[in-house]
Amino acid sequence: MQNNNILIIGGGASGLMCALTACKNGKSVTILEGAFKVGKKILASGNGRCNLTNKNITKACYNNFPVQLNKFNNTQTIKLFESLGLETYFDDEGRCYPVSNHSSSVLEVLINALKNHNCNIITNCMVKNITKQNDVFSVESSQGVFNANKVVVATGGNTMVNILKGFNISFKKFMPSLCGLKTSENTKLVAGIRQNALVTLSTPNFNYSEEGEIIFREDGVSGICIFNLSSKLNWFGLAKATLSLNLLPNKTIEQILAMLESRKQKLSTLNAINFFDGLFINNLGQEILNRAKISLQTPVSKLTDKNLITLAKTIMALKFNVVGMLANNQVHHGGVQLSELTNNLECKKISGLYVCGEVVNVDGVCGGYNLQWAWSSGHAVGESL
Ligand SMILES: Cc1cc2nc3c(=O)[nH]c(=O)nc-3n(C[C@H](O)[C@H](O)[C@H](O)COP(=O)(O)OP(=O)(O)OC[C@H]3O[C@@H](n4cnc5c(N)ncnc54)[C@H](O)[C@@H]3O)c2cc1C
Repeated sequence: MQNNNILIIGGGASGLMCALTACKNGKSVTILEGAFKVGKKILASGNGRCNLTNKNITKACYNNFPVQLNKFNNTQTIKLFESLGLETYFDDEGRCYPVSNHSSSVLEVLINALKNHNCNIITNCMVKNITKQNDVFSVESSQGVFNANKVVVATGGNTMVNILKGFNISFKKFMPSLCGLKTSENTKLVAGIRQNALVTLSTPNFNYSEEGEIIFREDGVSGICIFNLSSKLNWFGLAKATLSLNLLPNKTIEQILAMLESRKQKLSTLNAINFFDGLFINNLGQEILNRAKISLQTPVSKLTDKNLITLAKTIMALKFNVVGMLANNQVHHGGVQLSELTNNLECKKISGLYVCGEVVNVDGVCGGYNLQWAWSSGHAVGESL
């Protein structure tokens, strides 16, 4: 059994920021990390570049917008990282990255600072359960039992449910978010194809549109704009949903029809299977023809005006029924309800027990918003410790 003043469970973005803030305030801190090293998700973030925050942070970017996001905001975050030696830049869309374009730079400056403050980091230490007796927490782990007066749960999504099962804390069920959407249609023919599209998500309660690159997968569709729409589904209700993909969003139906007419003249010696070559990847062209119920062997010269109108409409509204979320999620929606927490993210019912990061029911769209929440919430807890 080891006695500690403060234990932080989880060495991800929020746990590391929490530890650093507490250490800078002179606290003695131990991080218990289940994996063989800390910060694995930081390394994976932003396609290995780590989009650590965003210039433009508004309430619309999150399901909940708690006070901590203003108390330690994007400007303060960048200032702190710069004080640790990290050089950053913003891209045209306001996303902030390290100048090195390597997420390892973000993790390295955090680890250097923690070492400087003698923070104790224990890896390969998976926490299984937490209990509290007489103001002392007992943290049961794969490396034995640790005691502490204060415990911070910064474990990211799901595993918090088991760790905190002994406490009566109300949380919203975790759901994958910022992920692809599973569709009922067979998408094997187009799997792997990337295509720019204006995507409209429709449910009985709301419609949202977002333009960007989509990636067809064997079991559905993915890509950043689909990720953002998956958040909206979690936030506003997983009701019956459909996706409509406009594959030529910058053209009117008249312009598309004129283009198809012209292609019919130019490509009159081909069969329909090759009608879209040069405009779409061949398999996507086949998908459009299949949806329009036009045989792939139809000579292009025999395509009727009605066929061309059907094809134009299909190009403007390729429909999919959404039946669930794909498992390639970047974050979890759900977690400990804000109503259970003080402004310091301490559990109202259990003094000395804090939560931060994805464990809390706060999640944002793509663009650096989730790491900003991890930094803001970790900082809030670290200050309060
Ligand atoms: C591929 C990918 C790309 C992403 N890109 C971005 C991006 O560019 N910008 C952005 O803002 N967000 C991005 N995100 C989301 C962002 O990384 C997360 O929101 C953020 O890392 C969450 O931080 P956290 O500290 O709450 O949890 P995590 O980073 O998940 O850290 C939790 C830590 O706790 C440890 N742990 C879990 N259970 C236990 C246990 N029982 N005992 C001990 N340790 C435990 C884990 O091993 C982990 O190290 C991305 C996510 C992914 C997966």
